[in-house]
Amino acid sequence: MRNLAGSKLVLATHNKGKLEEIRLLLAPMQIEVVSAGELGLAEPAETENSFVGNARIKAHAAASATGLPSLADDSGLCVAALGGAPGVYTADWAETPSGRQFDIAMARVWAELQASGTSAPYRAAFHCTLVMAWPDGHDEVFEGVVEGEIVWPMRGEAGHGYDPIFRPDGHDITFGEMDWALKNRISHRADAFRKLLAGCFT
Ligand code: IMP
Repeated sequence: MRNLAGSKLVLATHNKGKLEEIRLLLAPMQIEVVSAGELGLAEPAETENSFVGNARIKAHAAASATGLPSLADDSGLCVAALGGAPGVYTADWAETPSGRQFDIAMARVWAELQASGTSAPYRAAFHCTLVMAWPDGHDEVFEGVVEGEIVWPMRGEAGHGYDPIFRPDGHDITFGEMDWALKNRISHRADAFRKLLAGCFT
């Protein structure tokens, strides 16, 4: 496992919500972090059908464009009664001609659950795959997950993406109602980051 201590790191994401969370998760490492968006890097097409495949595309694109170690996060919501959808298409469900609208994406999750004929509890999980890539082509992969349920209607204004319809197990509130510090202790991203920090910063 390669070590990152002392390196400058590129965060290969253009997603502001994720970027804010990742900066907070990396804060204890006191590492210099710059994002692909801030560097004006092009956003590569996510053409794979797995979280790890798409995270590899983003991490290696940023590492070869900058010559710096680069970290990509590919994540999504998998709903059991929908056969794991939206899964790798989680961001796509929010796409509209005027940009991503997560209210529309969350309403689609609920509509498809109603159409599926299943009943509550609607089991679901957020998955996060982190890929650390180096300019020489080496990479390391870390996976995180948080299990919970889909709730309706949406609840809470905090967080980003599908947070208002996901209630993690062991809690009465959705990610959308949760303080960021608590979300950053229990989320799929927190789980994957714990493994990254143990693997690449010790
Ligand atoms: P990606 O940029 O292709 O990885 O897209 C991930 C999608 O999953 C985006 O639409 C995010 O909004 C959604 N997503 C990932 N993590 C979270 C989270 O922690 N809360 C809510 N939505 C998330």
